[in-house]
Amino acid sequence: HAKSQGGNQYCFNTPDQNMEMQRNYQLEMKLRKALENEEFTVVYQPLVNLNNGQMAGIEALLRWHNPELGSVPPSEFIPILETFGLIIPVGRWVLYEVCRQMKAWQQQGIMMERASVNVSPLQLKGGNFACELKEILTETQLDPSYLELEITEGTILQIKDSSDTLDSLQEIGVKVSIDDFGTGYSSLSYLKQLPIDTLKIDKSFIDDLDADGEFLVNTIIHMGKNLKFKVLAEGIENENQLSYLKQQKCNEGQGYLFSKPVQKEEIPNLYHQTNRPGLPAGK
Ligand code: C2E
Ligand code: MG
Ligand code: MG
Ligand code: MG
Repeated sequence: HAKSQGGNQYCFNTPDQNMEMQRNYQLEMKLRKALENEEFTVVYQPLVNLNNGQMAGIEALLRWHNPELGSVPPSEFIPILETFGLIIPVGRWVLYEVCRQMKAWQQQGIMMERASVNVSPLQLKGGNFACELKEILTETQLDPSYLELEITEGTILQIKDSSDTLDSLQEIGVKVSIDDFGTGYSSLSYLKQLPIDTLKIDKSFIDDLDADGEFLVNTIIHMGKNLKFKVLAEGIENENQLSYLKQQKCNEGQGYLFSKPVQKEEIPNLYHQTNRPGLPAGK
């Protein structure tokens, strides 16, 4: 029975696939105009120092609200931006926006260690990236050491000259973190040769802490720290996860337990709640 139907599978899309193609086409058309229509915003999620509870920084996360479609999640629109090369101008806008915002916070006395921005493989492969990044830093007058770029483990493995690319970023003076660490089959000894500051343990491992998954998390934290990386746990949602991570001396955490991503206006309050004057910034 299956065999007699097999031939059709090459010729026709299922109704579901047709729907998805239509949806993606609609998204693409709207995304092409989204930047000039000012439909993108950036929200910010605190990165928390687990040793002292202070806000070490923020991760910038892109949001898209279209008047007709409403809010579309990044998991849906980022792949489309990437497919059509639109992530290059949009990613440049995000970097500019975040650097300008971070500088503004610093001028208000909010001295976080870093603002972390996700960059996609296409941006790094472009060839112009380092040059554009320098321009943005110069224009916004943000000291490069306050900017961190998040590159996924998959991207590191995917771009041919990752080592040269990361060297050029190090030369500029920005920091680098490896996002979604643990999902990409890279070896820590390979990553150790690259100029990387932080490993962000993927949320899926933190989820596993609720189901006897301590062993892997524990191993990543200890190997990472022995190799002199800062280790951050993504997606902390409950106190049990937090207390285990603290016990294992994981350096930093991020997740709904501390705060969801928030509008830029909310960051000063969150910062002042945890980073009281008199306490040393960071560490
Ligand atoms: P990511 O870089 O790993 O970001 C973390 C994601 O986990 C964010 O989802 C964040 O809202 C979510 N998250 C944080 N804490 C928790 C938690 O405790 N529980 C749960 N369930 N989720 C949590 P978001 O904002 O939907 O972004 C998804 C992905 O989209 C990001 O994953 C990143 O890969 C990509 N992305 C977002 N903004 C940008 C951007 O400006 N440029 C690029 N290239 N990619 C971006
Ligand atoms: Mg990230
Ligand atoms: Mg991540
Ligand atoms: Mg992730």
